Amino acid sequence: MIAIEERPDATPLCPYCQASLDTVWVRGMRAPLGKRYLYMCPHCHKVLGVSHRKGFWMG
Ligand SMILES: [Zn+2]
Repeated sequence: MIAIEERPDATPLCPYCQASLDTVWVRGMRAPLGKRYLYMCPHCHKVLGVSHRKGFWMG
């Protein structure tokens, strides 16, 4: 098992432009089964991830 360590002080980096992310942009998308969200880097506008279930990051 891999341990999960909560690090609220750690700053994620955009994998595309290497900017540190203190904000991500979210856009809602209409999907057949409810709403999905697209997460974007505010610096380069590339898509970081898509939520598959409401409220779950990359779920
Ligand atoms: Zn970026």
